[in-house]
Amino acid sequence: MSRMTEQSVGATETLPWSSGAARSADIELAIFVLADGFRPDVFRALCESGKLPNFSRYLLREGSHIEGVTVLPSVTDVAYLPMLTGQYPGTANMPGIRWVDKSQFTTGKFGVSGHRSYVGPAHFRFNEDLPASLETLFELSPKSMAVRSDIHRGLSSGSNRFHGGSWPFMLFSHYLKRADFVDRFAVNSLVKGLNGDSGDLPRFIFLPLLDVDTASHARGPHHQRTLKAYQRIDGIIGSIVSKLKNIGVWDRTHLMVASDHGHTQTYDHLDLTKLISELGYSVFEHPSIYPRKVDAAVAVSGNAFGNVYVASEGRWERALIGDELEREHRQMLDILRGRPEVEWAAYRHDNGAIKIISDSGAGLMNREGERFTYSFDGADPLELGISGASIHETDALELTAEGRFPDALEQLWQIFTSERTGDLVVTSKPGYDLRGKREWPEHRSSHGALCSEHMKVPILSNLPLAVSGPARTVDIFPTIAESLELTSTKPIPGRSLW
Ligand SMILES: [Zn+2]
Repeated sequence: MSRMTEQSVGATETLPWSSGAARSADIELAIFVLADGFRPDVFRALCESGKLPNFSRYLLREGSHIEGVTVLPSVTDVAYLPMLTGQYPGTANMPGIRWVDKSQFTTGKFGVSGHRSYVGPAHFRFNEDLPASLETLFELSPKSMAVRSDIHRGLSSGSNRFHGGSWPFMLFSHYLKRADFVDRFAVNSLVKGLNGDSGDLPRFIFLPLLDVDTASHARGPHHQRTLKAYQRIDGIIGSIVSKLKNIGVWDRTHLMVASDHGHTQTYDHLDLTKLISELGYSVFEHPSIYPRKVDAAVAVSGNAFGNVYVASEGRWERALIGDELEREHRQMLDILRGRPEVEWAAYRHDNGAIKIISDSGAGLMNREGERFTYSFDGADPLELGISGASIHETDALELTAEGRFPDALEQLWQIFTSERTGDLVVTSKPGYDLRGKREWPEHRSSHGALCSEHMKVPILSNLPLAVSGPARTVDIFPTIAESLELTSTKPIPGRSLW
């Protein structure tokens, strides 16, 4: 293990989960920077070669560097939910950047209802769709500010800076395949918002930065231009710290930085919609939402994760379970699991279990109270190597964090708590995605799946935290809440890292 793969550099030795005693400073301001698409290995290598001096100085040397794991699907906006609401995509009932709600899905004369895509201008609907059962950090901390945040419930008027006016920038960003100018406008807007009396400062600030994710999709996660994007974000960290020093609050600031997903280079595309159409289904897919008779729907996120929905004898009311799916759609299951591009597919099975099928084996997981059970036949599709095991929920991350599919049990469990999750969840292997001809400009890098390259993320703090990892991104919400001496009023799955 290299020096930089230690979870905490120059800060603390490995400590157990804390009781909150480690919070060491009087914190007036908490800032969370979401460095979209940062891969921990690329980040570490750039730090080691001295290319990220601000991250090295203000976060690694003085604070904590925790090995983090994001959520399934590992995709922008949906994977912001854990940090900003403390919830998983499944428990928030938002299981992808595109989804179908079978209970509401109808294809009438004038339109198709019961579906969503948050891609393009429709990203404005993301905030509207947040269920009342969850709480945002902005609601918990009313004196908050964000910049261009798609999640903004609880922010007072004018406190989501550069949001309404950002859409033309986002459009240009998409087609120009770069987001450096979007990030620059966002940071300028943030810095302007910090002018004035220190008594007027917000208590919590959220800043998402898109440069690395956009560059990775355009050219690949290891391309020189992508590495330059990491360096530009390092410059942004430096300018934020300078500003906070200038206004005299840096020594009372808790700065956290984390990513929502990693990336893998994409060499080939499996057009999941085309594949299912060729099996004889009439398939609904965004953005082609004109009314017609359909008996399947495909909703891809990231683009390595897909929710697949199928009608049962013309009916769409509810998810199909186990035998129903296997009996009525056997051919589709067999074709999908045998495709070289597909990692595995998963679906609801009898008695609340989840079945995972790959080309060479099948796994079955369930949850009883606080324990997961897992067994497999043939080759283990999740490569957990623990057939017949019963695993306490507090061990589920640690046991799987270094495996091929980090946090597989918790993540598969949470995604299938949503009734909007597909009858079938499909993920592609690294090197492939599932979106075919629909994606333009072509993506050269993907995320969304449960593989370690997509799931592993850095979690950084300028103040040393008691926990050195592994940790989940759902732990960021209670950590920031504790920094501000706030407590979630809703049940959340995460734990404070203090
Ligand atoms: Zn992305």
